[in-house]
Amino acid sequence: MENTLSKALLEWYQNHARILPWRSDVTPYHVLLSEIMLQQTRVDTVVPYYLRFIDRFPTFRDLAEAEEAEVLLLWQGLGYYSRARNLHRAAKEVVSTYGGDLPRDKDSLLRLSGVGPYVSSAVRAIAFNEKDAAVDGNLIRVYARLNAAVVDVTSAKTKTACGEYFLAHMEQPSSFNQALMDLGELICLPHGAPLCDKCPLKQWCKAFQQGNPLDYPPPKKKNEVRQVRLSVLLVTPKAGHVAIHKRPDNGLLAGLYEFPNVEGKFTLSALRQRFPSLEKIQKVGVEKHRFSHILWTMDVYRCEGDMPNVIVVPTREVRQKYSLPTAFAKLLPYLED
Ligand code: SF4
Repeated sequence: MENTLSKALLEWYQNHARILPWRSDVTPYHVLLSEIMLQQTRVDTVVPYYLRFIDRFPTFRDLAEAEEAEVLLLWQGLGYYSRARNLHRAAKEVVSTYGGDLPRDKDSLLRLSGVGPYVSSAVRAIAFNEKDAAVDGNLIRVYARLNAAVVDVTSAKTKTACGEYFLAHMEQPSSFNQALMDLGELICLPHGAPLCDKCPLKQWCKAFQQGNPLDYPPPKKKNEVRQVRLSVLLVTPKAGHVAIHKRPDNGLLAGLYEFPNVEGKFTLSALRQRFPSLEKIQKVGVEKHRFSHILWTMDVYRCEGDMPNVIVVPTREVRQKYSLPTAFAKLLPYLED
């Protein structure tokens, strides 16, 4: 029997597939949830969140009936919180429009909140075994190397060409797509030299034959990172308590909780003037937090006193009961005596 790219890839997958919790019980809900959690997030970070999430919300219906605050709390620390909000909305849409069963056609999937072309293709292929290619940066890298193609990884034309290339080779769409995902993560590596000796596709790979896989795709231009300086106030109005505040409903970290803060770098006397109700203001440290395009440098202050428009909560409950993003959670040690 002819050794095709598809056959070689599927055989490799049978022997080398990563063991992942969403693969042990493949349902449309599990696939959608895992794919959304995996966006911009590493697999080993996602696994415990995924397990906690399906334990608390085993079905679309359970998720649809939950309060948003609880969904955000379970998402706390995973970042990109709009994913959690959209997923919650999508679950409600699946229940109200489709009786709790995820639709399998592309147009219906794309109408769900937070579901874009990549997730819809991944769900169709993995959960429904529909012939579809989930094209992301990993797949484009493998495609570019296989074809020694100099491509713009961000262009729609490249995504289309990549999808068409793999569709032309595709058998068993569910395994084929997952095999490519694993190959991109484990063998045809995003950083550093690919492990071509272990690659099941090397006989079809032009970059390997040319001996220059690292030339494909050409390196991306670095994104500009916006630097933001913040002064963050850890206000303890009484022992063992801290003041928190809810962020606006849109923009970065929308609707999550934060410690009171102001943009800019201040001297102690400028801070005292700005917040006359606060006492014993002292600087306790500087922390940084990087979002995709923004770097926060936070001057951290401890102080006592009252503030308007905050809620005062026991310090030890702040992470358990309020969705405090990682950027602020990393300041909690400053509250420990
Ligand atoms: S042979 Fe090397 S460069 Fe080509 S697809 Fe495999 S790992 Fe990537």
